Amino acid sequence: MHPQRESRLLSAPVEIRRAIYAMIIPREIHAFLSRGRLRLSVCLEPNLGDDSHDGRERRSGTDHEGISKWARRLRSSWGPHWECEETSHARYQSNIHGFLFLCKQVFFEVSDIMTEIAAINVTDLETLSILLGRDQSKDVFNYSWILWEHICFTNIRKLNLTFRLPVASYRELEDEDTVPRQMSTESTVRALWASSWPDLLISRELRSLHIWLDHDNSSSWSTVKERMVLRTLSAALTAHKQAPSQTETPQAPDVVVSLPKLHPGMAAPGSHFTQDSLSLPFTIQRRYRQRWHCKETSNGDLDIQYRPDFPIMEELRHLEPDREWTLQGIEELEITLLESGEDVEAVFGELLNSPSICY
Ligand SMILES: [Zn+2]
Repeated sequence: MHPQRESRLLSAPVEIRRAIYAMIIPREIHAFLSRGRLRLSVCLEPNLGDDSHDGRERRSGTDHEGISKWARRLRSSWGPHWECEETSHARYQSNIHGFLFLCKQVFFEVSDIMTEIAAINVTDLETLSILLGRDQSKDVFNYSWILWEHICFTNIRKLNLTFRLPVASYRELEDEDTVPRQMSTESTVRALWASSWPDLLISRELRSLHIWLDHDNSSSWSTVKERMVLRTLSAALTAHKQAPSQTETPQAPDVVVSLPKLHPGMAAPGSHFTQDSLSLPFTIQRRYRQRWHCKETSNGDLDIQYRPDFPIMEELRHLEPDREWTLQGIEELEITLLESGEDVEAVFGELLNSPSICY
């Protein structure tokens, strides 16, 4: 900590200081772990899923180095925040951290206003666990622990969770066995996941919770039994809303869950949130999914793989630009082919003059 004696900033009125902090603090911030410490970096507020952000925008050159870089970006566990991850490693990113730790008074003042005005983004369950104050294994003398104490979850107004989890994690989350609360200190994906939702709803300040989910595999999203995965969130929100006294219970935040579009040939009401789903305690938004993926070759090199999820014929827009295909038109065509029993993957594979795309 630096001496405060000569600080012009700290000699300014508190309203002026707060106005300065509000100008410096980004609208969205990433909280993440690096070498066991909680760190902060700016969020570049990426597009979280539309028909043009399918992975090709992460391209970086056509030579071997460029392809490897593109592949690493495609497999980023930060998902659509891949560029935020790259930025978080940049040296100048220490500015947020450096400013925060300018001195003790600035630290307290900035921490307070940061959780008031900035959305906090988290891209892994371990960081979420620390923000919820459940990881007791960290060194209390580590200054990042002090940081945790002051941006701890109960002060956060807006929380964005972006989880691009391994398929194996989803298989674990689909398991029907319930997870007892006493397991919540264990660091298994299922225990962290199940205990996070009730803990999140304790906060009186949280107003908005956005949850973006995907898996890190090129297979269809529809292989995930999303109803099973989100049943603990649904149960926690339902119990919260049915609590007998709303005066003692914090108001539930607005919860939006962003999921990839379902494949009509694979969607099932028992496993997925379909049109037939009953009313839910959260809002579901569907989006187009990443189509370009990282593939590791047998000799360990990183390569690129094109594996589209529904609609798999989206590439027609690029192959036949003169036809002015719309995505809605392609979706309708694909559903028609599916309903008439056609093998859409084989048809499209022939069109592409490539092997059939399989799930
Ligand atoms: Zn970001």
